[in-house]
Amino acid sequence: MATKAPIMVTCPRCGALTPFTPQNNWRPFCSKRCKLIDLGDWAAERYRVPQAPESSSEDEPPDT
Ligand SMILES: [Zn+2]
Repeated sequence: MATKAPIMVTCPRCGALTPFTPQNNWRPFCSKRCKLIDLGDWAAERYRVPQAPESSSEDEPPDT
């Protein structure tokens, strides 16, 4: 009987191999740090307001 090997996944943050097991609280990340960093990035992305470029083509020409 072969011992059941844990499924290994690569951490989306740093690329380290980490076991995808119920014991791994940070799966699919390798550590709490990587998970927090990734969530932080996601939040930063979410709160970043996209700046629309100034467009003057919509201005009405003063031709009266
Ligand atoms: Zn990692």
